Amino acid sequence: MEKIRVRFAPSPTGYLHVGGLRTALYNFLFARRNNGKFILRIEDTDRNRYVEGAVENLISALKWSGLEFDEGPVAGGNFGPYMQSERLDIYQEHVKELIKNGSAYYCFCTPERLEKLKEEQQKQKLPQAKYDKQCLTLSKNEIETNIRNNVPFVIRLNVEPNKKIIFDDIVRGKVEFESNNIDDQVLIKSDGYPTYHLANVVDDHLMQISHVIRGEEWLSSTPKHVILYDAFKWERPTFAHLPLLLNPDRSKLSKRQGDVAVEDYRVKGFLKEALVNFVALLGWNAGDDKEFYNMNELIDSFSLERVNKSGAVFDLEKLNWLNAEHLRRKTQEEILALLKDELKNSEFSHFSFSDEYLVQIISAMKERVSFVKEFITKSPYFFDPPKFYEEAAVQKNWKDDTGSQLKILRDEFAALADPSKEGFEHALASTAEKLGIGKGKLIHPLRLSVSGMSTGPGVFDIVMILGKEETLKRIDTALEKIK
Ligand code: GLU
Repeated sequence: MEKIRVRFAPSPTGYLHVGGLRTALYNFLFARRNNGKFILRIEDTDRNRYVEGAVENLISALKWSGLEFDEGPVAGGNFGPYMQSERLDIYQEHVKELIKNGSAYYCFCTPERLEKLKEEQQKQKLPQAKYDKQCLTLSKNEIETNIRNNVPFVIRLNVEPNKKIIFDDIVRGKVEFESNNIDDQVLIKSDGYPTYHLANVVDDHLMQISHVIRGEEWLSSTPKHVILYDAFKWERPTFAHLPLLLNPDRSKLSKRQGDVAVEDYRVKGFLKEALVNFVALLGWNAGDDKEFYNMNELIDSFSLERVNKSGAVFDLEKLNWLNAEHLRRKTQEEILALLKDELKNSEFSHFSFSDEYLVQIISAMKERVSFVKEFITKSPYFFDPPKFYEEAAVQKNWKDDTGSQLKILRDEFAALADPSKEGFEHALASTAEKLGIGKGKLIHPLRLSVSGMSTGPGVFDIVMILGKEETLKRIDTALEKIK
């Protein structure tokens, strides 16, 4: 059986785009599902786009997402180096082979000539500017003289006209391009660096990549790659081009309409499990309506055959929903660890809370939150007494006699020998009865006093978590502050 080897081959632009995460994830899932290898290769031959620290950012975003690669920078492997900028001599060596067999040629045209050519072609309303192969007619002698005289040059792919370039794609089926629409692509630039096309094909071959799984934006490059594979007489890998990611208005997913960096989602408090689950569903489903997946379930279910062609809409509501679902399925210890981390970055970082105390908050709030942060933002009163009382709730629930009634309840609470949940409930019920009022007349003011809010978990759960002393203190404060 063929050995499965796939790669994620980002250019280091500074951050991991969610589209990049989707590509990386599909490669990872495909490798894990088929006992293959998942390789990270950094395509950094465009020196103009070099960004300091970009590779480190990429690797840490992949790690955070749980996508461990088997080979790559840092990880190592038998097919390295895995940074294209460290492989320049390999590309030079290979392009010589193409020159020898007529599949590539030196081009000494000046930028001025190329610019003029482009303008003329635009005037003629040609669909796209193409190099006119002028340098293909240079004699061996002319080429050698030029090189000796240090005339700057590029090396171009010699695309044969009037051919159909056909290849199979797992997602898109049979794909056809006309060679007449393909430019004599530059393979080696005048600075000696390879272009994406040459480096990508040479590396995919030398790294024994079996399947090229990448975004649809690379589909139009694939005929050039196919020409290169054929020119080298190399076997082509299997291609799978993943559908575009779209904004809800079906425009191409862009920074302008929201966050596109994995890091942005991490900082916003999304769980990596939720983001991975969400991204997995952007263009793939198992053929049923299952939406909740953990990584192992994804590995078990994933197949390239079930990736669809049409653009995948990036629906943030679904991501929020998945976050809540993943959070709910976490164990208490897992949530505790996350909550402690969150507290460290919160306004309550200078307080300390026992695990026992935090676990009670988690039980009370778990069904009410979608994000770990919300344990804090939705119930700040567990971490510090309320600083203010919700105005509308005061208006609605704090009447003229509320203060005196609540004072009676406070004293009943104070006298409780057994401050259990039932004990508090019973004290409230009997106070209401004695006063001849409905329980609500006490419950709402009590909630407001201890939490400052009108909603939240059951008021007796809050009271139990705060404890008797703290509850009494808060009622006293409220009696003083709310008039
Ligand atoms: N370097 C390309 C990128 O930035 C890789 C495309 C491919 O996978 O061939 O996405």
